[in-house]
Amino acid sequence: MGEDVRDLLILGAGPAGLTAGIYAARARVDCVVLEKGIVGGSPLLTDVIENYPGFPDGITGMDLAEKIQTQAEAFGLEIRTLTGANAVSAGPEGFVVETDDEPIVAGSVIVATGAHPNRLGVPGEADFTGRGVSYCATCDGAMFKDKAVAVVGGGDAAVEEALFLTRFATKVTIIHRRDELRAAKILQERALANEKIEIAWSSRLVRIDGDQVVRGATIANVDSGEESVLEVDGVFIYVGTVPNSECVSGLVDSDERGFILTDDRLATSARGVFACGDVRASHLRQVATAVGDGALASVGAQKYLDELAAQQ
Ligand code: NAP
Repeated sequence: MGEDVRDLLILGAGPAGLTAGIYAARARVDCVVLEKGIVGGSPLLTDVIENYPGFPDGITGMDLAEKIQTQAEAFGLEIRTLTGANAVSAGPEGFVVETDDEPIVAGSVIVATGAHPNRLGVPGEADFTGRGVSYCATCDGAMFKDKAVAVVGGGDAAVEEALFLTRFATKVTIIHRRDELRAAKILQERALANEKIEIAWSSRLVRIDGDQVVRGATIANVDSGEESVLEVDGVFIYVGTVPNSECVSGLVDSDERGFILTDDRLATSARGVFACGDVRASHLRQVATAVGDGALASVGAQKYLDELAAQQ
């Protein structure tokens, strides 16, 4: 088989990568999107997205992913799922992307690989993952019908998913390390008004207890150190995200947490490599910002490819 050479390679088929792909396909750029899992990105882990304009009744992450994919493929965009990009390096012919299949050479690369849930690292967390500990209420929530669960975190994800879990659980305790939530005010209002939600303020999760499955969670007050036990069958952890930037580590500059640094055109420190969406160092990570990022990165990559062609 001959070498696979493309003008543009987009890594990741979440909202950012797919939007970059839509713009590239419409510009008739020879482009392929590689996705290590399935199409959709982090919205797939969300029940309903209420703050993405154009959907006044909200839209599920699954439906939104399907719509974006349909739109992208209508313009002829090639999307390869279950094909991860393992490493990107600069070679004489362009960027060489090592994939789960054959390597691909590309003139320009857009990194839209997103982020994955942060782990807390408390005793019991790893042991009970899949046996009561979860990072995805949309995936696992229904298993906790008529049971009590805890949610760790105070951001948008924690509060939104705590609200979602009230559909199944009898009681949802949010464990938050401060006395104030970080989540959007509208989510806070809903959580505070929901009779099934209780908040363990200024508390940290000490450990997750159980036998074959989770049976409880020990928490401690951060001021007094006093410990107490929550009788829960599930613990959902939403304490931020970690960027999926390993494939370009060493190639591009990133911040201390691994989020890729970009300029205002979303170019990285490696000329010809752009980054967009949740993997990028930014102040806000939403579907709305991801799609804007995707458009900007795609136009930046196209301009770079034009400059490259003009030099040849
Ligand atoms: P986030 O906004 O970074 O919030 C993380 C939460 O976890 C914070 O409340 C933080 O506490 C807590 N936390 C972090 N490390 C911790 C630790 N070691 N122990 C205990 N608690 C810890 O993350 P996120 O909620 O996962 O959201 C990620 C991004 O996606 C955000 O930009 C968010 O806006 C976006 N998102 C948006 C929506 C929406 O708009 N509907 C939904 C989901 C996610 P502190 O508050 O004390 O720092």
